Amino acid sequence: MELTVLGCSGSYGAPAGGACSGYVVRAGDAVIWMDCGNGTFANLQQHVNPADLTAVVLTHAHPDHCVDIYGLHVMYKYGIYGSCLPVYAPEGVEKTLEHLVGDWTDTFDWRLVRDGDAATIGDAQLRFSRTDHPPPTVAVEIAHGGKRMIYTSDTGPEWSIDAFGAGADFVLSEATYEHTDIRVPIHLSAHQAGAAAREAKARRLMITHLWPTLDPLASAAEAAEQYGDTVSLAAPHLVTHI
Ligand SMILES: [Zn+2]
Ligand SMILES: [Zn+2]
Repeated sequence: MELTVLGCSGSYGAPAGGACSGYVVRAGDAVIWMDCGNGTFANLQQHVNPADLTAVVLTHAHPDHCVDIYGLHVMYKYGIYGSCLPVYAPEGVEKTLEHLVGDWTDTFDWRLVRDGDAATIGDAQLRFSRTDHPPPTVAVEIAHGGKRMIYTSDTGPEWSIDAFGAGADFVLSEATYEHTDIRVPIHLSAHQAGAAAREAKARRLMITHLWPTLDPLASAAEAAEQYGDTVSLAAPHLVTHI
């Protein structure tokens, strides 16, 4: 599998090209746009021809994870005449975005996902788990070729990656705060992200969704201290092989 970071700024865009949450996961023949935060559609087009997408996964209705699907809708409807692209999302996302878009027409094939659901997208097997975050929010596990990666989306500490079982090959975890300054407990600190990854015996950990004013290296050090190994930092356009 291959993960490309399109954006990783936590909750709002950071200066100097800091798009919000969005990733491309390639797994065999599957090309999945996972979260469409503000700024990510422009970055997506540097890595993927949007006509080649196999599916979109939206983890929840917060704008920093979903609004840029509007651009894909417009491109499909008026540009390349795409239709029926599968979009997997929990309750509330389609309706929330409808206020922006109006009529979705036939650009997308919306598929509702709930806690414990599974889906097959091309060569990739997906599972979803409801996280500890106010709007219906799902974490995503993607498995392909004997490897498993987990994306936490947004979550507070009452949910953990061990919901998918221990020993994931790669965990992409939110780490919005530093542990001394947790503003709202609907997100993790870097300390909590590192501890959860250690407890779930994750083989590799990358942190993302850092609050834009934080020092990323300090967050990585905080996570690494708990995790017990090096922790990588998400950055726009970073490509990682899993
Ligand atoms: Zn967020
Ligand atoms: Zn959120």
